[in-house]
Amino acid sequence: MTSDVQQKTDILSMTPDEMKAFVVSMGEPGYRAGQLFTWLHKGASFGEMTNLPKAFREKIEAHTDWRLPQIEEKYISAEDGTVKYLLSLKDGECVECVFMKYHHGSTLCVSSQAGCRMGCRFCASTLNGQVRNLTASEILGQVITVGRDTGERVDGIVMMGIGEPLDNYDNVVRFLRLVSDPAGLNIGLRHISLSTCGIVPKIHDLAEEGLPVTLSVSLHAADDETRSALMPINKKYPISVLLGACRQYFVKTGRRVSFEYTLIAGKNDTPAQADALAAVLKKEMRCPCHVNLIPLNEVAETGLERPGRQRAEAFRKQLEARGINATIRRKLGGDIDASCGQLRLRRKQAAEDKM
Ligand code: SAH
Repeated sequence: MTSDVQQKTDILSMTPDEMKAFVVSMGEPGYRAGQLFTWLHKGASFGEMTNLPKAFREKIEAHTDWRLPQIEEKYISAEDGTVKYLLSLKDGECVECVFMKYHHGSTLCVSSQAGCRMGCRFCASTLNGQVRNLTASEILGQVITVGRDTGERVDGIVMMGIGEPLDNYDNVVRFLRLVSDPAGLNIGLRHISLSTCGIVPKIHDLAEEGLPVTLSVSLHAADDETRSALMPINKKYPISVLLGACRQYFVKTGRRVSFEYTLIAGKNDTPAQADALAAVLKKEMRCPCHVNLIPLNEVAETGLERPGRQRAEAFRKQLEARGINATIRRKLGGDIDASCGQLRLRRKQAAEDKM
């Protein structure tokens, strides 16, 4: 947890117990760690921590590396109030997050890596190839920064931003424990969804963590040939193996698994493919599940196209007729292009053009 850049302690990544041990190691009373943890998770500066002695604050500040992600760009949807952020991290890497309001509360979509190495054909986040894992504090920092900027409580989180959460497993699990800590932001794990392209061994590990998050699995195809063409990870963990892990996740946690299915014109959107999807889910899952249909957000570089509304609706109906619950994801922030990965990509390309 010591950063390579400054050799200072990444205090915001610490659990309450670790923070207590750190405070004691600084020769200070351990009970102060509880107040410190709560202040830090509110995004307070050391100057604002008025119920802690000044000398204590100065000592801790001198030994720690503490910087919240900074807002570089911000777009507010005139249609529905969705806010999209481009945030910079301390090494200049940028990530995106999106704040959405639903009638039942607010949800923040956070990023887990800067870039992605999974190579899904339709996705903007992976186009640059480059990737760095975010620390737990950098993922948590997105929640803190946006909470402060909007002045609103973040009620739920979806890990559906840039990156593959299970490719950054330890930091993501640490983040889940921190963000749900009652002394911190106290966001209920049941209000958190983790989306994965399907790194099977890590799905098994996650089922053992005792964290009741909702697992969302990006399926996007019902047969291995189609899925491997869209998602290279399928060559390593084919559909039957992946769905076996999903079933195991449900058996172990009792949490219903949800599946994302991005509809791409001419690739995976025929009625026959809807039938095949229903059949494979029935055969391999044999437990409650839900399918979220996402009409493709077109990314110019991929050349892939979004099917029409009627085609998406026909696909949904076909699934329902086969007994599979399915919804077409409502598009929030349509006017600000709120899907993830594109802002970061544009910024990277602009930086490269200057070189
Ligand atoms: N790495 C995680 C999180 C990715 S983003 C995962 O693979 O699940 C969340 C969802 O958006 C995933 O289902 C992803 O496949 C999907 N997605 C990515 N690019 C998209 C695009 N251009 N249009 C529609 N959905 C997309």
